[in-house]
Amino acid sequence: MSDDDGMMLLNLDTTSSVDQTPGKVKVSGGRWKDRRKAKAMLNGKSVNSKDDRLVTSGSVKRPVSTEQGVEERKEQPARKQAKKVQIKATPADQQIVSSLFTSNRGIVTSINNNVHDENSGVGPSNAPLLQDSFEALGITSPLLQHLSEVMHITKPTRVQKMSIPTLLEADNDVFVHAQTGSGKTLAFLLPILSRILSMGARVDRQSGCFGMIITPTRELASQIHSVMLTLTKCCHYLIPCLLIGGERKKSEKARLRKGCNFIIGTPGRILDHLQNTQVIKEQLSSSLRYLVLDEGDKLMELGFEETITQIIKFLYEVPLNHFKYPELPKRIIHVLCSATLKGGVNKLGNLALQDYKLISSGRKQQEVNTVPDQLIQKIVMVPPKLRLVTLAAELNNITVRHLASETGETRRTIVFLSCSDSVEFHYAAFSSDSGHGRALVGDSVKVLSGNSTSLPCLADVSQPSVVCYKLHGSLSQQIRTATLKSFSSDSDATKGKHLIMFCTDVASRGLDLPCVSSVIEMDPPFAVEDHLHRIGRTARAGVSGESLLFLLPGEEEGYMDHIKPHHPQGWKLLKYDVDILKPAFMESKVQRSDGVSGKPISDEWDNNATTWHLNIERRVLGDPTFKEIAAKGYTSHIRAYATHLSQEKKFFSIKCLHLGHLAKSFALRERPKVMGGMNAKNSANGEQKKPKETSKSKMLRMAKKALDQSMSEFNY
Ligand code: AMP
Repeated sequence: MSDDDGMMLLNLDTTSSVDQTPGKVKVSGGRWKDRRKAKAMLNGKSVNSKDDRLVTSGSVKRPVSTEQGVEERKEQPARKQAKKVQIKATPADQQIVSSLFTSNRGIVTSINNNVHDENSGVGPSNAPLLQDSFEALGITSPLLQHLSEVMHITKPTRVQKMSIPTLLEADNDVFVHAQTGSGKTLAFLLPILSRILSMGARVDRQSGCFGMIITPTRELASQIHSVMLTLTKCCHYLIPCLLIGGERKKSEKARLRKGCNFIIGTPGRILDHLQNTQVIKEQLSSSLRYLVLDEGDKLMELGFEETITQIIKFLYEVPLNHFKYPELPKRIIHVLCSATLKGGVNKLGNLALQDYKLISSGRKQQEVNTVPDQLIQKIVMVPPKLRLVTLAAELNNITVRHLASETGETRRTIVFLSCSDSVEFHYAAFSSDSGHGRALVGDSVKVLSGNSTSLPCLADVSQPSVVCYKLHGSLSQQIRTATLKSFSSDSDATKGKHLIMFCTDVASRGLDLPCVSSVIEMDPPFAVEDHLHRIGRTARAGVSGESLLFLLPGEEEGYMDHIKPHHPQGWKLLKYDVDILKPAFMESKVQRSDGVSGKPISDEWDNNATTWHLNIERRVLGDPTFKEIAAKGYTSHIRAYATHLSQEKKFFSIKCLHLGHLAKSFALRERPKVMGGMNAKNSANGEQKKPKETSKSKMLRMAKKALDQSMSEFNY
C-alpha cells in the first residue's frame, strides 16, 4: 500500500499558512502565471484578492491520457522542488495539500472498448408486448378495467405473459427467473388476485389469508404491499397486511386480529408472528393457497434459509380445507422468484418447490442475466483523488441537462456506495443543510426528509433544484420509509427537481422507484448480481435509463471484462476530464470561502474543480463533526473494499489502493490515522502500545467488520 505521495504545493487553507512560508523558494513547472502566484504566496504576499483559487504549480493543465507517463516523467524536477518546499515551509502542525491534478495514475483504456451505440436502434428488452393483452391471458373484470383505467397498464410484459396462464390454470409450483424491472411483481400478484376474484364465493377480510409473500428487505415488502393496495382498490373488501421488522408488533397483531387476505413481510417478523401470535394461525388455516418467495437469491444470501425452512414447516402443519374454496388450488402453490440462478437459490428451490414450472423473462435463458437492452451503460476510470469532484461534476451535469430539457418532470438519480458511513459522508458533503456545518454552496431549504443542495454550476439558482436523500440499513425504519416515500412521490416540494439518493445496496433489490433516470455506481458492487440489481433500478418496463460505473485506473479496469457477458449492448467509455469535469466546471460558479457566489471565477475548469475541492476540504477542517464523518466514511470504505469476493479480489485488491489519494476523495488532507497525531499522544500519556498486527490478521479483522456491517445493513 502506498502512502500519499501527491505533491504538496501550497496550503491555502488558513491565512496563517502564508506567514509560515520561507522567503526564498524556487517554484518550477507549469505556467509562468501560476509560478509567479505561487512564489508570491510563498513569500507571504497576497494573491489575487478577487478570489482564493488554489495556485498550483505545474499541475493544473495536466492532461490525463495515455501520454500521462511521459508527462509524469517531465514533471519530476518540479515535484522534487515541491517536496523541498513542503519540508522547508510546513511546520509540523500545518496541513499538507496535495494537488488534485497531479500523481494520478495513468489510465489504460485500450483493453476494452465495448462501445454502446445509442443510435443502434436497439429496442427495450423488458417492455410490454404490444400484440398481447391481459384479457387474452385470462384476467377478468374488475381487475382488467382497473389495470387499464386506473393503473394505465394495458399490455403484459414477457414474464407476465408466461406466468399468468400458468398460475391461473395449472396447479404447479413456479420458478420465475426474471430480469429485474420486467414486471415480476404483477406476474404473481395478478393471477393470484384474479383467481380469488373469479371464485363464486363471496369473500372479505374475515375469509382468511389466501397468500403469503416473503421478501428479503422491508422496503421491498412495503413496495409489494403498496402495489397490492393499489390493485385491491377495485376490490376493497380484500385486505393486505404488512409484517416487517422495525414496526410495532402490537399494531401488527391488531391488524391481524381484524382479519386480512394477504400477508406480505420479511422472514424474521413473519416467523415471529407464526410462533407467537395465535390469530395468524386462525387466519391461515383452511384458506392459505399461495406462498411467494421473492428475491430468492437474496433471501439465501442473507442467511434466511433456516427461517424459511421453519416457516414452510409451520405452514405444512396448518390444516387446509380443500372444500372451502374448491376453485382454488388443492394445496399451497409455491412461487419462487429470482433474477439470478446462482448462489443458494437452487437450494431454496429444492426446499420450497415440488413439480415446478420454470418461467423465464428472457427470450433465451442467458438473457435474464443481462442488463436491459435499452440501458445506456457508461464506465469512467477516475483516479482516487478525483472521485469526489468527478461525482459532483456528474451530478451537476445531469442536473443541468434536466433543467435544460424543461420537461417539468422530476428526475431521480441513485448513487450507490459501499457502506453506511460513506453514504453519510457523501450526503453531508452534498447537502447544504446537513446539520454538519455551513453550506457547501448556495442556500439551504429543508425539503421533507431530503435536503436541497446546489452543485457547482447551480449556485445562482434561487430555488435549489436538487434535493438529496440518504438511505442505508443503520437508519431507523421510520426514516427509511419516509425517505423512500418522499423520493418516490411527486409533491410540490420535489416536483420538477433533481432528486439524488445516496445509498448502500439496501436500495438495490427489487425496489420500484418511479422514473429513476440514472444510476451511479460510485463504488463497484460486491458481486455481479448486485451490479445487475443496482442497474435494474433504472430502464424498467421498457423505459430508457442510464448507468455510470466508476472504476479506479489499474487493476479495477479488468472488471470490465468480468461484467462484459452481462452487457451484450456494450458500454461507452467516458473520460473523466473532458466528458465529466470539463462540462461541469467550465462555467463553474463555485462559491468562494467568503460566501460570495456568482459569475464564473475562471474559464479554467481544472482550477474551478480544484477550488471546489478546496472548499470542501476547508469545510472538513473547520468542522470537527464533519471531519469525523469524513474519517469514518473513509475507514469504513476501506474496510468494505477488503470484502470483495475472492474471485474478484484480482480487480479489487486493497494492496493496490492508494490510501492517501483515496483520503482526498473524502475531503481529507491526510489519512485519518495520521490526523491529529493521536498515536503519538497516547504513547506520551503512558498508554500501552498495542502489539503490531500482522497484515493477514488485519485483513481478516477488516473483512469481518465489514461483513458484520453489511449484515446489519439489512437489519431485519
Ligand atoms: P417489477 O419488475 O415488478 O418491479 O416492475 C417494474 C415496473 O414495471 C413497475 O413500475 C411496474 O409498475 C411496471 N410494470 C409492470 N408490468 C407492466 C406492464 N405490463 N406494463 C407497463 N408497466 C408495467
